[in-house]
Amino acid sequence: MRTLIVADVHANLAAFEAVLAAATQKGPLDAIWCLGDIVGYGPSPRECIQLLRGYPHVMVAGNHDLGAIGAISVHDFNSLAREAVLWSSSKLTQEEREWLAGLPLVAIQEEVTLVHGSLRDPVWDYLVSPDVAAAHLQAQSTSLGFVGHSHLPLLFQEQEGRVHGRYLADGERLDASKGRLVANPGSAGQPRDGDSRAAFALFDGEDGVISFHRVEYDIAQTQRLMLAEGLPLPLAERLAYGR
Ligand code: ZN
Repeated sequence: MRTLIVADVHANLAAFEAVLAAATQKGPLDAIWCLGDIVGYGPSPRECIQLLRGYPHVMVAGNHDLGAIGAISVHDFNSLAREAVLWSSSKLTQEEREWLAGLPLVAIQEEVTLVHGSLRDPVWDYLVSPDVAAAHLQAQSTSLGFVGHSHLPLLFQEQEGRVHGRYLADGERLDASKGRLVANPGSAGQPRDGDSRAAFALFDGEDGVISFHRVEYDIAQTQRLMLAEGLPLPLAERLAYGR
């Protein structure tokens, strides 16, 4: 079983397509696990949902997915994000809204835990410190877990009773059978670690290896679409800086 793991696609079709092309170039995919926020910020929410649903997939809900269907208040978002949430909401069909409404907050698949924020707060928690990671790992019943939300490629690993965290580099390979860990593959559609390239991970259930990757995509194309749709300029600009 060879699985593509993506987080925070954020309606960025050019990025999602580049990720899929890069992932399938390395070998055939059996499934996609999506860690939430397939919509929000970007110009192509419907196309990204459609692309994901064309594959065998598991997806957990993120704050933008829930905001776009009114399951959480738009007032919980900052003003730029709120504008994008309301715009996304206006684009979705009833059938797509129902699909988003049916997404779980937490999924356990092939002995792997999937959640957008953390097990402490699946919707809003940013798993970016050893303290939060420790609280999450305490609640994680599987040895391996993946989260999204921070848009940062991060690994937190339990070693000798302590939780250590670090950034994940492009091309890095990890033996998932070594101890308890939770990783964020980074964001496919709006990276925030200063690297504008789309981020993703591949998990091979057979040998237990997770690999982390970055791939360039046509940022200008996504920016043009965003501006044509009247989405806020700073949201388009940040894509070029990976912030
Ligand atoms: Zn996000």
